[in-house]
Amino acid sequence: MEITVFAADHRRINVETKYRDVIFCCQPMDLLKVDRLLASLLPRECGLCGLPSGATNSCAGCRADLPWIERPCRLCAAPLPVDFPVDYCGRCDIETGGLASVHAALAYQYPVDRVVTRAKFQRRPECARLLGEWLAFSLQGSLATFPDLVVPVPLHRRRLMRRGFNQAEEISRAVTEHLGLPHATRACRRISDTDAQSALSGQKRRRNVRGAFKASSRLAGIHVAIVDDVVTTGSTIRSLADAILDVGARTVSAWVAGRSLSGNAKSVVQ
Ligand SMILES: [Zn+2]
Ligand SMILES: [Zn+2]
Repeated sequence: MEITVFAADHRRINVETKYRDVIFCCQPMDLLKVDRLLASLLPRECGLCGLPSGATNSCAGCRADLPWIERPCRLCAAPLPVDFPVDYCGRCDIETGGLASVHAALAYQYPVDRVVTRAKFQRRPECARLLGEWLAFSLQGSLATFPDLVVPVPLHRRRLMRRGFNQAEEISRAVTEHLGLPHATRACRRISDTDAQSALSGQKRRRNVRGAFKASSRLAGIHVAIVDDVVTTGSTIRSLADAILDVGARTVSAWVAGRSLSGNAKSVVQ
């Protein structure tokens, strides 16, 4: 299949290798629409090994090798041993604040870390969709209650313009499509253009995102699930949850594709 997209400035976009150098685009947000459209039209191939993958974006073999968190702590998503007597690790090492629960699909290690890096820093929206698909697979069958609305962790407008897409939004879009849940991309805003969390540690992360979000009053009285790519200390999801709870949401839970395993989370499984 040959697809040509005509655009104003002949700038090559980063999905070009995937679609054999035939796509050019003008605006970053147009690129995203083109990419979503093509992803829905073209035969799918596994995002890890490149083999045909049927109706999904990863093949069964690669999925079987992923570092799934089979039995997560219900509060912090740390992996629990299969025979652990309770559903909580007892030493949650991320900031959960007012969050009712955190669900993570995968340990943030190879190859999940590579896929996240490609999505964020090589501007590859299809990698974010792959993470969303994995998160949906992991949520299927494990959800006790469904949220009323799913919202992605928003990017600040300036960063969104630079990157061209919000990876958390692509993940939550894939999750809600798979699970048939309502999705709202504008119910929350990031009001301060904070430093990248990945460059900071501990308390600095907390200070960096405190008060960084604003939520719409339409979230009052409902159960909201927020979606992000990775949870490390929990500062970002906690800060967004605080903003959503401030406008009167009933419950806020968090779904993330990858959970970093350091400190206590590592020791629970050992
Ligand atoms: Zn594969
Ligand atoms: Zn825990």
